[in-house]
Amino acid sequence: MFHYKTGLDFALEQDRNDKLKAYRNQFHIPKNQDGSDCIYMTGNSLGLQPKNTKAYVNQELDDWAQLGVEGHFEAKNPWLPYHEFLTKSMANVVGAKPIEVVVMNTLTANLHFMMVSFYQPTKTRYKILIESDAFPSDKYAVESQLRHHGFDDKDGLVLWKPRKGEELLNYEDLQTILQEQGQEIALIMIGGVNYYTGQYFDLKRITQLGHEYGCKVGFDCAHGAGNVQLNLHDSGADFAVWCTYKYLNSGPGSLAGCFVHERHAHNKNLNRFTGWWSHNKATRFNMRNEFDQLPGAEGWQLSNPPILSMAAIKASLDMFSEVGIEQLTEKSKKLTGYFEFLLKQLGEDTIRIITPENPNERGCQLSIQVKNADKSLHDKLTQAGVISDWREPDVIRCAPTPFYNSFEDVYRLAEKLKTILNE
Ligand SMILES: *Cc1c(COP(=O)(O)O)cnc(C)c1O
Repeated sequence: MFHYKTGLDFALEQDRNDKLKAYRNQFHIPKNQDGSDCIYMTGNSLGLQPKNTKAYVNQELDDWAQLGVEGHFEAKNPWLPYHEFLTKSMANVVGAKPIEVVVMNTLTANLHFMMVSFYQPTKTRYKILIESDAFPSDKYAVESQLRHHGFDDKDGLVLWKPRKGEELLNYEDLQTILQEQGQEIALIMIGGVNYYTGQYFDLKRITQLGHEYGCKVGFDCAHGAGNVQLNLHDSGADFAVWCTYKYLNSGPGSLAGCFVHERHAHNKNLNRFTGWWSHNKATRFNMRNEFDQLPGAEGWQLSNPPILSMAAIKASLDMFSEVGIEQLTEKSKKLTGYFEFLLKQLGEDTIRIITPENPNERGCQLSIQVKNADKSLHDKLTQAGVISDWREPDVIRCAPTPFYNSFEDVYRLAEKLKTILNE
């Protein structure tokens, strides 16, 4: 437990003692009209641009200009194996083994490709369980998988719901659902950190429960990757997917990550969609071979990937490797705890934090419900130079990220909120 204090002095002192303080200056921070830094609280939506990203992308543009197709072999970072330059650091970020991780496609696309392999419904076991407040794209994706296999998407969708009057999900309720319908559920697919409440689920516990009932278990870790220590390998999950443009700071619409547990690495019988990039690297360019499956997560790749986007991912992952997810989450817990402390000073009858209080059950995001608030509150915050996120009917999501947000940011945000609420 940290001991927090009110007042700007405390924030400035924390920033002075912050081991990661130098990193803020390695990002482009959006500016207000007067040239001051915005208070950027939406790293959960689009992470900021590292200043070195441009050089990484330019390197590939220059090599393309000078080498043309030869860049596949001759570029400083040859394009043919380029995705391999990302694997180890990405595996470290999500707590996986290199063979379990690949960067490819985009998030929802990866979710579908994983379901091709891990949603294998039968007449009696065909349902998919998701959290009731799943991210819309995930819900649409699983519904379409149900329909694709000839099932009714209402009958086939099982929702893990919060109890009446609550927002957070309860593991006992999951257990009850599984006791009642476990034999009918083919797949459990949960957002590892819920995008709305910020609840970070116990991936291992959910996986163990699911496997006990014979279900496959996968996670969408869009709000987890780069934010919490996911320990995907130890969780035992069958698969996971995530994007790189949120906490992984790799640019709008950038490529996504995919995890397939090691125990599936050499299973050639697992159904999947394939392309030439899932084929054995040694003979890929002989072109007339019988298909020869690559082992591990790489075996789910389809296409030769967009190098410019991967260059931006490399720029970011090199920073993650330098700092390590452990140090980032250590600062994150302190920073978000401080934010929580300041919000509580504003009065618990006006402000309710729906994100779990336990630092191990959340990442950096706090979802804040403000009594009698409407979107005008968010608009006022925006006018005051705060970039945050509004979710109807009454929730503001703020994500102080440890890489570039300061204690001073959090202090100023709380002050602005106080001023607006007192108006
Ligand atoms: C951000 C996010 C998405 C977005 O999907 P894209 O395919 O990248 O557009 C999907 N699911 C979750 C849980 C998200 O947080």
